[in-house]
Amino acid sequence: ESKIAGKGRASLFCPEMAASFRRRTELDGEMREGIAAGQFEVHYQPIVEIKSQKVVSVEALARWKHPVKGQISPAEFIPIAERSDLICELGEWVLSRVCDDIAQLPEDVSVSVNVSPVQFSKPERLLAAIRKMVEANRFPAERIELELTESVLVDDPEQTLRTMAELRSLGLRFALDDFGTGYASIGYLATYSFDKVKIDRSFASAAHKSDASRSVVELIQHLADRIGFIVVAEGLEEERQVEAIAATGIALAQGYYFGRPQPIAGLVQGLRSSAVRSVA
Ligand code: C2E
Ligand code: MG
Ligand code: MG
Ligand code: MG
Repeated sequence: ESKIAGKGRASLFCPEMAASFRRRTELDGEMREGIAAGQFEVHYQPIVEIKSQKVVSVEALARWKHPVKGQISPAEFIPIAERSDLICELGEWVLSRVCDDIAQLPEDVSVSVNVSPVQFSKPERLLAAIRKMVEANRFPAERIELELTESVLVDDPEQTLRTMAELRSLGLRFALDDFGTGYASIGYLATYSFDKVKIDRSFASAAHKSDASRSVVELIQHLADRIGFIVVAEGLEEERQVEAIAATGIALAQGYYFGRPQPIAGLVQGLRSSAVRSVA
């Protein structure tokens, strides 16, 4: 093979792109079987009331322990799953896992579950899956909150409002996730009634060092007081970040400072030992 031909081919065919395409195709092909084979787990991260340091809820986060490729981040496998029905299967599997695990949590701790915009764009399937669990008496709806991202609100507002109303009638509540990073305008906070709004880590974690970030955070808390939702600051890792957020009047926070996502057993154990500490 001549050097010229090799060079020409390299310019048309980038090896990194080919490798990443191959990996995506493999993960796509392996995911359904991975769910069935028990390679997926749900980890839980505490959401804490800053003032009392009490855990008020936990967020369920999917994990994939691939037998060959190792731990795969949801940042990688969720977008792949979203290109097909796989995201519905995965989302339903997560919900069903949560229903099993929730019995291990104190009754005043609720669970937040991420719902993909793709799931929300097929409301019949989502509603059917949830109704089925409700009818089987497996679904403590009043303890479950669905986290939606802004794109859901932009894509089909009418349908989203209908689906939310339907799910609300079953007892579910809603949080708006990663607020401030998507395309939705602030006006959506008036159109949709969210129980919680989660301020994205990008500016929640910068409130201690940037006046602009702090102002944005303060504005959202101000709207919360007027409109009547609860604010969660995401991604707090350090004490000074927590202090800056607390000073804005925000009640709830989530981040490595309070605890990392972990399997249900470890979380439950942590909850017990912190209860023991606070009584002692
Ligand atoms: P998210 O819903 O915004 O979840 C919060 C993410 O921030 C999680 O990443 C969590 O581990 C991470 N995080 C929490 N505290 C900190 C912190 O203090 N510092 C930093 N650097 N990160 C922190 P994770 O678990 O990798 O999930 C990434 C995203 O994948 C989630 O973002 C969510 O959008 C999506 N995802 C995860 N599980 C599911 C699922 O079951 N269904 C759907 N549809 N999406 C999911
Ligand atoms: Mg979330
Ligand atoms: Mg988030
Ligand atoms: Mg996020």
